[in-house]
Amino acid sequence: MTSSKALFIHGAGDIQISDFIPDSPTDTEVMVNVAAVGVCGSDLHYYKDGGIGGATIQSPFIPGHEFAAYVTQDIPEMDIQLGELVAVDPASPCHACEWCVRGYHNLCPKVSFIGAPPFNGAMTNALPVPKKSLIKLPQGINAEQGAMLEPLGVCIHAIDLAKPKLMESIAVIGCGGIGLGIIQLLVKTGCHHIIAIDPQDHRTAKALSIGANAAGASIDAVNDATNYRGCDLVIEASNSPDGMGDAIMAAAIGGRVVLVGIPDGDTYTPFPAAQARRRGLDVRFSRRMGDVYDRAIALVHHNHIDVDTLITHRFSVEDSESAFKLQVNNAPSLIKSMILPNQTGSH
Ligand SMILES: [Zn+2]
Ligand SMILES: [Zn+2]
Repeated sequence: MTSSKALFIHGAGDIQISDFIPDSPTDTEVMVNVAAVGVCGSDLHYYKDGGIGGATIQSPFIPGHEFAAYVTQDIPEMDIQLGELVAVDPASPCHACEWCVRGYHNLCPKVSFIGAPPFNGAMTNALPVPKKSLIKLPQGINAEQGAMLEPLGVCIHAIDLAKPKLMESIAVIGCGGIGLGIIQLLVKTGCHHIIAIDPQDHRTAKALSIGANAAGASIDAVNDATNYRGCDLVIEASNSPDGMGDAIMAAAIGGRVVLVGIPDGDTYTPFPAAQARRRGLDVRFSRRMGDVYDRAIALVHHNHIDVDTLITHRFSVEDSESAFKLQVNNAPSLIKSMILPNQTGSH
C-alpha cells in the first residue's frame, strides 16, 4: 500500500493533514478507495469541541462517515466487482445486545462507527471497511450522491419519527444539509405549511427554493406565520444550544417536537419548563438512522429528491481543512462540502 494523505483531528481546533498508511484489510474487510466524503455537522463538533458527549478524541483520528468508494477487488458473493462504486454504511451495530434485538440498531451502545473516535473515517484516499457494510448502488448514482445517502438516511429516520400529517403546520429549525433534506422529504410527503428557520439568508433562500412556504432568521417567523399559535410539528436540525428551547417555543399546544441536531458544547440552553409542560408536547430525540438505505437509494435514483442542490463546495484532502474552517465561520453560500480524495478538488 502506498502512503496517502489524511485529515487528522488532533483535538479542538487542531486539524493536520498528514501521511497515512491504512491497515491491511482482514478476511471480513475489503480495501476501498474513497470517491467522495461529506463534511457533516458532527465532524465539525469534533473539530470545534474535541468530541461529542462521551465520544472524545483521545488520539488523532480521521473523521468522515458519509462516503462512497471504489472497491479494490471482486466480491462475487455480493455481486460486486473490482472498481465498482458503492456506498458504505458507517455503522456496524453488534446485532446481539438488547437494543439491537429490539430493532434499535441505531442506538446500539457497542456500535463501531467509521469516522467516530476511536474508529478512523474516510477523509483519506483509502481505508479497509467491513464487506457487509458495502451498499451496492444502481447505475446512475454518482459518487457525491452515494455519499449523500447517509445524511439522507438521517433525514428519513427523522421523518419516520415525526410522522408528518397532511396539511399540518411544520417548522424546521436549522437549514443545513439535514434540515434542507428534511424539508425536501416533507414536501414529498405532501406537507404544505412548512416554515424554515435559519440565521443565514442563503440557507433560508435555499429552503424556499426547494418547497418551504415561509422562512425567517428566528422563530419569530413561526409566530408571524401562525399568529402565535405555533406549529403542530417542529423538527430541529441546528447546531445551536438554543435549538431545543426554540423548538419548544415554536410548537403549538399538543404539538410534536423531533430533535435531530447536535448542540454546540453538547448542552442545551435552559428554557422555562412551563413552556414545554403547558403545551403537553411529545418530544423525541433522533439518533442516526434505522434500516433506511433502500429508501434513500430509491429516492435519489428515481429523482424524488435532489441531493445535488445541497452540495455547494468541493475540496481535495490536501485542502480539506478549508472545508472545516469555512463551515465554522458560516461562510456565505456554503451548505454542504464534499471532499474528493481521489481527484483534484476545487472550491
Ligand atoms: Zn453525518
Ligand atoms: Zn447492539
